Amino acid sequence: MKKLRERLHRVRMEIEEAERQFGRAPGSVKLLAVSKTRKTGDILALAQLGASDFGENYVQEARVKIGQLSEYSLTWHFIGPIQSNKTRQIAECFHWVHSVDRAKIANRLNAARSPDMLPLNICIQVNVDAEPSKSGIGPDEVEQLAEQLLPLSRLKLRGLMALPAPNDDFAVQRRAFMKLRRLQEQLTDNGFKLDTLSMGTTHDMLAAIAEGATIVRVGTALFGPRIR
Ligand SMILES: *Cc1c(COP(=O)(O)O)cnc(C)c1O
Repeated sequence: MKKLRERLHRVRMEIEEAERQFGRAPGSVKLLAVSKTRKTGDILALAQLGASDFGENYVQEARVKIGQLSEYSLTWHFIGPIQSNKTRQIAECFHWVHSVDRAKIANRLNAARSPDMLPLNICIQVNVDAEPSKSGIGPDEVEQLAEQLLPLSRLKLRGLMALPAPNDDFAVQRRAFMKLRRLQEQLTDNGFKLDTLSMGTTHDMLAAIAEGATIVRVGTALFGPRIR
């Protein structure tokens, strides 16, 4: 608990400092605590220290934790690759999905989202460094997918997400995030109403904030190294 408190404090300080350094409005960067593989008890401890938003990658694991923590009003984000046979479960228990990269998945999430719930917040995941093996849609295809989301009333397109290949060079990190920001600006110019840039993890959060991140997804810096 003490360790979690110190880590959370440090990450928050770093975010505040980066907001100042890069001319971002105070409080404009939301911390998403990435809790994949972490114990429910640690998530609860972080929630009691004031964290509100948690990111999960594995549907089965997430459903158990979301159920165990249902009495706390936490906001759950699905950030992992999406298999089409998992869309119903994702639509039933998450508030956000950051990793939509094809129309088929969007259609299935839309069909499965209950009319009794608020629309599911969506980010389109973009493969900014065009690595063939990685998830995410190519930058050239983003606008077409965004258009396909418009008629889906149970989904609300909020913005773009990227997970660039790890790189230790700050300038290289910034370049990847700049691509996502430019893409967002292009969509905005073409009439899309977007307010979210989900980018930056433990190792490249500062570069992401410099380039306009509104959500940083941080696991290791909060919970320590992942065992699996
Ligand atoms: C695991 C994960 C993160 C967090 O990575 P850390 O290095 O632990 O901060 C962020 N985004 C996605 C999509 C992830 O899968």
